[in-house]
Amino acid sequence: MPELPEVEFAVRLLRRHALRRRIVQLRAHHPSQRRGVTARVTAAVQGREVSRIERRGKHQLLHLDDGALLLVHFRMDGEWVLGRSGTALPPHARVTFDFHDGRRAVLADPRALCTVTWHAAGAHPDLGLGPEPEDPLLTAAALRERLLTKRGPIKPALLDQAIIAGVGNIYAAEALWHAGIAPTAIAQRLSAERAQRLLDGLRRALADGHVNAGRYHRGERSIPFNVYDREGEPCPRCARPVRRIAQAGRSTYYCARCQPR
Ligand SMILES: [Zn+2]
Repeated sequence: MPELPEVEFAVRLLRRHALRRRIVQLRAHHPSQRRGVTARVTAAVQGREVSRIERRGKHQLLHLDDGALLLVHFRMDGEWVLGRSGTALPPHARVTFDFHDGRRAVLADPRALCTVTWHAAGAHPDLGLGPEPEDPLLTAAALRERLLTKRGPIKPALLDQAIIAGVGNIYAAEALWHAGIAPTAIAQRLSAERAQRLLDGLRRALADGHVNAGRYHRGERSIPFNVYDREGEPCPRCARPVRRIAQAGRSTYYCARCQPR
């Protein structure tokens, strides 16, 4: 599943291709995308220029020059395939943007779960997201305060996008390993010192992710994860085998020695 670094990579790619370009045609190629990209939306979007592209959590926000917003979410899978209009569509093409200068951006998604929705000026949705982990203004004290609202263990709490935006299963596990905090530690009992380590760990894990973001979803990661998806392999810090447990229906990977409760 694409996480913050993968989505950030996608946004940077799209910015180079789509920013300040006029959309001459928007097409949905799959019934699931036609729910969001309706005839009305297509008509509203055509002729509009993409004035700003930003990421919030795992959402991609394409701001149009009439104040409307196109909200893109990859969900389980997805990538932008950039090229020229009039050429053959790539496999799994779901939504296509054709721009005035002959460029084309295709949202490709094998599972067809990605979503594109349009929101008129003044009617942008509340995404319900917590702060960005890489926001320099975010403090460990603020993160700790947010975690006080959560019951239960820390790792599922980090996956709550309202607590902190953009962190998913991979980077939650990696951040806790960097921080030396057990995934089963109780979120509400995090000390100030551990909250600082957690925030540092999140930023470190995401920084590692940014190095690889364009590659991971194709399974070609050049820098391996420290614990994620490495059950039974040696911990890079202490060489003990990495453990896997289930938390809230998801696999959690961690080192029992480096991450005491
Ligand atoms: Zn270890």
